[in-house]
Amino acid sequence: MPLILVLGGTAEARELASRVPVLSSLAGRVREPELPAGDVRIGGFGGVEGLVAWLREHRPEAVVDATHPFAAQMSRHAVEACRAVDVPLLRLQRPGWAEQPGDRWTRVPSLAAAAEAVGDRRALLTTGRQAVEPFLGLQHVVLRAIERPEGIPSSWTVVLGRPPWSLEDELAQIAEHHVDVMVTKDSGGPTAPKLQAARQAGLEVIVVDRPPVLAADVVDTVTAAEAWLLAH
Ligand code: NAP
Repeated sequence: MPLILVLGGTAEARELASRVPVLSSLAGRVREPELPAGDVRIGGFGGVEGLVAWLREHRPEAVVDATHPFAAQMSRHAVEACRAVDVPLLRLQRPGWAEQPGDRWTRVPSLAAAAEAVGDRRALLTTGRQAVEPFLGLQHVVLRAIERPEGIPSSWTVVLGRPPWSLEDELAQIAEHHVDVMVTKDSGGPTAPKLQAARQAGLEVIVVDRPPVLAADVVDTVTAAEAWLLAH
């Protein structure tokens, strides 16, 4: 059986692993990750060098980078390592979100630009726990977290709870915390209740654009990734 390495941590990666026998790789950030079907390895490779060594040792037929659109470092390492070892690489990345009638979106190129665009307004931050740092200079932030993170300004409001948040949760939080603006990354995927809620509430959304795709071969569906694997 040819070895195919899937860099995962997304619903698309799990879907691919349920259709094709692959070895899935997870970063190991989440304590109890949703495991894909089939074989799984967990933990970083040790930079580009580590990934090159791993590829040389295991000789996969192909690598599919199905990491999250904002996992830019892993994607860059995959491009460099696969080029060095001459292994075919496919980037599988779901389409981004598109603005709909009623939306008030401002697109920005980075988290830092998003923080600048918020200014003095009261922002609901939905960018994930690893993306808080660029916002630490802001005063009025509503942050959702499973437990209160250390090192955030005392002026911030923390809403404790676990995703997914329903449309009702989103609307209630926007109203209760007098949110002026929402900040999100353009993660894409199924329609997000937070975007629906912002539309209904007439709330501006600052949308952080994705980092550029560096791989030469790119698809945006699991079916297209399967076809690419067959062709390789
Ligand atoms: P990142 O910043 O691009 O990567 C940081 C380091 O984590 C990489 O250099 C690599 O370590 C390790 N790593 C990342 N993904 C890996 C994988 N699938 N298998 C093995 N090692 C991996 O990544 P991130 O944004 O922290 O994302 C980490 C994981 O969470 C990814 O699997 C991603 O798909 C998932 N995820 C991310 C987001 C997001 O918003 N960024 C959202 C949902 C899910 P070494 O250098 O040691 O190899």
